[in-house]
Amino acid sequence: MTMKAESIHEAYSFVCLRCGHAWEGAYEIRHSVDGQGRVHADYYVHSLKVPSPLTANRCRVCRGSRIRILRPGRVRSASPRSD
Ligand SMILES: [Zn+2]
Repeated sequence: MTMKAESIHEAYSFVCLRCGHAWEGAYEIRHSVDGQGRVHADYYVHSLKVPSPLTANRCRVCRGSRIRILRPGRVRSASPRSD
């Protein structure tokens, strides 16, 4: 039996739609395939399993749950500021 588990590192940027707080998070994503061929993705931060940031995420400032996910590097352009 061969269980193929691929591990990739992905960083996401998040913006709270309620208060505008923006932050980034880096995750290790491990994909595994179960007996029925379904792919599961598990998210880890520092080797600790965490809920998927894509479905369960919360703003740490206002605790709002309406989070917009951006690609890394787009946080800065989301808040227009020229310096
Ligand atoms: Zn917020």
